[in-house]
Amino acid sequence: MSDSSRVLLTADPGEGFRAHADQIRAAIERVLTSNHYILGPEVEAFEREFAAYLGGGQVLGVANGTEAIELALRAVGVQRGDQVATVANTVSATIAAIEQIGASPVFVEIDVATMVMSVAALAESLQKANGRIKAVLPVHLYGHPADMPAICELATRHGVAVVEDCAQAHGATVAGRKAGAWGAAAAFSFYPTKNLGAIGDGGAVFARDPAVAERVRLLRQYGWRQRYVSEIPGRNSRLDEIQAAILRVKLPHLDAENARRAQLASVYLERLAKMPAGFGDPALQLRLPKVATGIGHAWHQFTVRTPRRDALATYLGERGIRCGVLYPTPAHRQPAYAQPALTLPLTERACAEVLCLPCHPGLTTADIDRVCAEILGWSAA
Ligand SMILES: *Cc1c(COP(=O)(O)O)cnc(C)c1O
Repeated sequence: MSDSSRVLLTADPGEGFRAHADQIRAAIERVLTSNHYILGPEVEAFEREFAAYLGGGQVLGVANGTEAIELALRAVGVQRGDQVATVANTVSATIAAIEQIGASPVFVEIDVATMVMSVAALAESLQKANGRIKAVLPVHLYGHPADMPAICELATRHGVAVVEDCAQAHGATVAGRKAGAWGAAAAFSFYPTKNLGAIGDGGAVFARDPAVAERVRLLRQYGWRQRYVSEIPGRNSRLDEIQAAILRVKLPHLDAENARRAQLASVYLERLAKMPAGFGDPALQLRLPKVATGIGHAWHQFTVRTPRRDALATYLGERGIRCGVLYPTPAHRQPAYAQPALTLPLTERACAEVLCLPCHPGLTTADIDRVCAEILGWSAA
């Protein structure tokens, strides 16, 4: 039964702690008495375990997901003045990482069905850029990976590196291979509400090429290979032992928690598919998320679309169902990154219509039924 007075949230930061509280307390206690608090044995063990999970290669723990993207881009050779092809329907972090290098984003239009980078639009951008684009940075938005086989093939043809923004796609797959294992490097965030979340900030870069991994290793700590010798200009972007110990508790549960998300998503899809199309009014049509062939969705978010997004969000909010909007403003319309001359109709329309319904492992199928019943009520109102 769903307690209809309970407030349902799109993201619940404490849920991952409550589900594994005793193990997490024990892990923290182990670190407290270890006398080692930064880049120590817990980080090394987590790096090995997460690399094994991703199918081999190396993981380097860093301070957060934004810096994971930045260091990954630097490690594949992106420099000041270069261009990086990415999408505009993402969190500002993706763009901030590019800008931090002194590089600039080239915004690529999205695929209308899946809302991730369009391969055809990328081909056009690479053509037009005349060699100025040094890397492609697809974002696996909501846990749905971009079309990695096609993007990698295109990038290879143009001699451009691929870095995957996997901040929402821990455990997602493309043709059976993990998201993150396709490009030259991948960036993960362990922000508390991600599918694999810490209790604080954390991030990681994954790379199969040992040379790329080694550059990240140097970049994350002052350019040191050897202590006190800065071989290259580096910085401080380290993962701490407490976060790594917590991530080690949670990693073994990631697949089961993703399966739980998928189960909730399938309840949504089944219930909402039964709604009268457009509820008699085509303008109201609620569009359900589409999963492309061969994709293993991580269901970081269950995102529907409607031109009456704000009205639906308000209606549900008044009934204790707080939905999220990821993301209301595309990057090229953000004050910091504005490109007034650029229009991306599909991206802009997606940002105006998307609504993320509650979908995380702590919810029950009865909770999802309640959300669906309220959406049906809205359509009848
Ligand atoms: C969360 C997120 C990031 C940034 O991660 P932080 O750890 O918050 O820096 C980057 N890209 C996407 C798509 C994200 O969802």
